[in-house]
Amino acid sequence: MSEKNRRVALCGVMLESNAFSPIAKEADFRNALYVTGADIVVEARKSVSTVPREMAAFVQTMDATGPWTPVPLLLTNCPPWGPVNGEFFTACVAQIIAGLEAAGPLDGVYIANHGAMVATDDGDPDGTLMTAIRDAVGGDVAVIATLDLHANISGAMAAATDAIIGYQTNPHVDQVQRGEEAALLMRQMFAGMRPIQNFIRLPLVPPSTTLLTAAGPYGELIDYGQRRAREEAGEIVNVSVFGNFAFSDCAKNGLSIVVTARTDVDKAAGLANEIATRAWNNRAAFSRELTSIDEAVTLANRNEGTPIIFSDAGDNPGGGGEGRTTWLLAALVAGGAKGVYYGAFFDQELALEAHALGEGATFDAVFNRTGDTEFSKRFECKAEVLKLHDGDMVGRLGIYKDRRLKLGPCAALQIGGEDGITVVVISARHQAADPMFFEMFGLDIAQARTVCVKSRGHFRAGFIPWFPPEHVYEVDTAGLTSPVLSRFQWRNLPRPVYPMDPDTDWTPPG
Ligand SMILES: [Zn+2]
Repeated sequence: MSEKNRRVALCGVMLESNAFSPIAKEADFRNALYVTGADIVVEARKSVSTVPREMAAFVQTMDATGPWTPVPLLLTNCPPWGPVNGEFFTACVAQIIAGLEAAGPLDGVYIANHGAMVATDDGDPDGTLMTAIRDAVGGDVAVIATLDLHANISGAMAAATDAIIGYQTNPHVDQVQRGEEAALLMRQMFAGMRPIQNFIRLPLVPPSTTLLTAAGPYGELIDYGQRRAREEAGEIVNVSVFGNFAFSDCAKNGLSIVVTARTDVDKAAGLANEIATRAWNNRAAFSRELTSIDEAVTLANRNEGTPIIFSDAGDNPGGGGEGRTTWLLAALVAGGAKGVYYGAFFDQELALEAHALGEGATFDAVFNRTGDTEFSKRFECKAEVLKLHDGDMVGRLGIYKDRRLKLGPCAALQIGGEDGITVVVISARHQAADPMFFEMFGLDIAQARTVCVKSRGHFRAGFIPWFPPEHVYEVDTAGLTSPVLSRFQWRNLPRPVYPMDPDTDWTPPG
């Protein structure tokens, strides 16, 4: 008997919303990734692809495991930014639902979302989309979502899906495994499994700097969850521990545990409870010291031997930062730092000016010529145009590996002479999480004494060949992604939450 040809819809509206950042508009999505229909599958089957890796892995795993017919609808992604424009989001949902209704009978829906989106008129757009999909396809169709581990989980998201599968690594380098896992689970559902989920959210909102997974409390918690999942493999299908994204400033903030079981509701609830209790008992470990800007300049000037790397932690475009604060750069210039590679500064005007001047030109560089926010202050200094690039590059290490990025006109500017500070300026806002941000100009990381990146954590995967964790410093810079959460005016975040409210209480459900 030949296997039934399964029909699976594919979609995703991906955004990590920082409520303090500017609104993510339709153009921001269209400039980054906006693919519809058959193009989604064409792109997903390429070895170097513009679509998120979990979508590529899902499609390729479905291809490899039996007959199926993809029903590709809409896949769009905006780099982390503010709340999504409500009108655009509603149009995306309408387009996906119209596609589902036009598709006829389906066996499954795969959703590749980020999970920490807020809309200008909706505190839980991920939940809204998932609920609309469930309503459209009915209860018998398999609905599986993969989400970033920074997702903020709601009851609506858990209720609308059969399984939510979260990334397990930060920096995020396991999207391929999670996409494969989603496809294999969907195949199991086609064979008759009807999984159930249990979800617990804690009043625990850790700073992003404490949500790394190679070491520390969050990594330990994820490892524990995976060990318990293996021990209970007969019944437990997936354990996902979501660290949450504080800056979404929404009612569903808080570290969440989602456990998916084959059939046993109590087993899912028991294990979710066990992991939540473990997280809560270890909550004091979710804190981390930062390096002051003054200390960073001293370190850069003192450093003669092993190179070090600074994270400009308050201004991470990967968390909604503008990518154009100048405090750390200005301090290094004023301190006369030598042998520094600094990237990537988002300033299209400056990059275009460098292109107009040409390589070798010297000029008075004005960073943030038209900056008009607290975090885009003007900064001027003499610079030389060292190298120019069109910004079309393919990542090679870490989160951008094999991803094509279009950074627009880019320039490497030299400040303070030959052995001074080399600043990479880009025209599309991205975090410098891959050595290609420097290597595209022929800059060799091994030649730098100090590297500074506008990236909070993902650079660790891209730069590990040069910088083991003991050579990484997270610098306390101001900006929209400062790990010092008490600096923000929270509006929607539930209170009390630990650690901002140290006396917060929590008791396990049931
Ligand atoms: Zn993330």
